[in-house]
Amino acid sequence: MRKGIAVSPGVAVGTAYCIHEIFVNPDTKRLEDSEVTAELAAYESARDRTTADLNALRTKVEGQVGRDEAAIFAVQESILRDADFTDKVRGWIVDDRLTAAAALHQLLNHYTSLFARTRDNYLKERVNDVRDVIVRLSSHLSDVLKPETDALDGPLIIVADELLPSQAVALGDTDVRGIVTQAGSQTSHAAIIARSRGIPAVSGISGILRQITTGDAIIVDGREGVVIVDPDPEARSAYLKLEREFVHLRDELAVNRDLPAMTSDGVKLELLANINGVSDATTAAAMGSTGVGLFRTEYMYLTHPTVPDEDEQLATYQQIIDASPNSTITIRTLDIGGDKTVPYLGHNHQEANPFLGWRSIRLSFEHPEFFSTQIRAVLRASRYAKQQGGAVRLMFPMITTIDEFRRVRQIVRRAQQRLAKEEKEYADVPLGMMLEVPAAAIAIDTILPVVDFVSVGSNDLVQYLMAADRDNPKVSHLCQPMAPAVLRLLTNVIRTCRAQSTPITVCGEMAGQPRTFVLLLGMGLRSFSMSPAFIPSIKELASHMTIAQARGVLHHALEMKTTTHVKRFMADQLRKISPDSVLFDTA
Ligand code: PEP
Ligand code: MG
Repeated sequence: MRKGIAVSPGVAVGTAYCIHEIFVNPDTKRLEDSEVTAELAAYESARDRTTADLNALRTKVEGQVGRDEAAIFAVQESILRDADFTDKVRGWIVDDRLTAAAALHQLLNHYTSLFARTRDNYLKERVNDVRDVIVRLSSHLSDVLKPETDALDGPLIIVADELLPSQAVALGDTDVRGIVTQAGSQTSHAAIIARSRGIPAVSGISGILRQITTGDAIIVDGREGVVIVDPDPEARSAYLKLEREFVHLRDELAVNRDLPAMTSDGVKLELLANINGVSDATTAAAMGSTGVGLFRTEYMYLTHPTVPDEDEQLATYQQIIDASPNSTITIRTLDIGGDKTVPYLGHNHQEANPFLGWRSIRLSFEHPEFFSTQIRAVLRASRYAKQQGGAVRLMFPMITTIDEFRRVRQIVRRAQQRLAKEEKEYADVPLGMMLEVPAAAIAIDTILPVVDFVSVGSNDLVQYLMAADRDNPKVSHLCQPMAPAVLRLLTNVIRTCRAQSTPITVCGEMAGQPRTFVLLLGMGLRSFSMSPAFIPSIKELASHMTIAQARGVLHHALEMKTTTHVKRFMADQLRKISPDSVLFDTA
């Protein structure tokens, strides 16, 4: 049994399908002089076929999913065109007499160690695009693009270092029941894909690819973050039972999508979706969300080879509005820095403390041209939404002081004036702050008069409050939303917003986790934004409890002095309120 990070809840029992085995045994042969030209030609041909693949994938994904998701393949094409990339491979073939396969292996090692030195998590994850391109090139060299999955028995559990975008697409029709990755965090591709598809997943199981081969039996427990390789018959049958319950419940609950979200005493709740792009918006509507509580627009920039211009952004926002009929879409302005960077914004320098540094709204203020382009696109989208019977709200990440929000208002006002001057049609939008910084949470009563709504980014708020990096497994025992200090602070924030009649939503992971959902409900929260896959189970949980019950539970939890006590107490409470919900909890 191995313990990692639980990134997507549920349980799956199946057969391992390992990706990247292709690089386990690099070619050690040296070329004869007479073989060099043929080897170069083989590489060029693999390169042409890879370009054709990426082109085809881009078109396919664009048609079936959306432009944002397809853009990742344009990024990969640009990697393939990169002169340094090709020069290195050619150089190693010609000068060092490496085979093309060995040269690619060396190139992968080169980029992996280069990227490993960066402390920038976003850049670290981009190495996956490089790797994806290299894997594809190598597969064309050896003509094994996709190892056969048909010969394997049973449902598949993907085991990979990190699940690469093109692999995820290629596996689109395959019956994938679970995902295990060696690397990865909550923000990695695998985690995002798994959550949006409702597939159980565990990340951070280092060395698993050395421990397991394709065809081995494997269990993924995405609630506890546990992976069991080659389980004994008792473990297998126990987990098969859990899996059946999970699948049955998930399918059954999705049928509730058209019912309103309501507590058993009839208090209506808003269950909104966190989305990264158009395809998530479609999933969200299918899961019964009542709107979009957080559109993380970084993805739109990160998967785009250049800055998406105003019209391109407007087109994306319009697609999301179309996918979410008659509802409100909350768009967050670009939130990069910290763990994510966009190289073309010049954010590739090293900072000693990136999460405390030049990130998010701080960075946007210094790129007024990008910032106002996005604001203009949102204002124009707002008019479109109104015409369609919906609405748009605009929110700003990582607001720390009231001055920052005043500045935001000024910038929005200026964008409106310019649009009016250019005779471009737009509509007003409510302006909200993301509450992610403890200083703003403590002084929230002083900031509320200048904001139209608040959305609590509890992922960041908890990491800043507890001084514990949200992506560092070594301090994950501290970075806990059920820590007593977090509960006290949030109780106060929610009470203050309600007292001043400012709408408040929580859009961090805790909104969609059963135990913390109950606590937030007890604090008086009525609007929750989460990964679309969590909506049906949270709706079900809500229907099993009254507000008085949630308040009672919170009251007890607030008296506890340690996170361990709160977690244990909440696990007991959850079992009493709705035993089925336990399946959807991640530890
Ligand atoms: C958060 O910080 O809780 C949040 C919702 O934003 P992100 O996870 O994108 O930082
Ligand atoms: Mg955040």
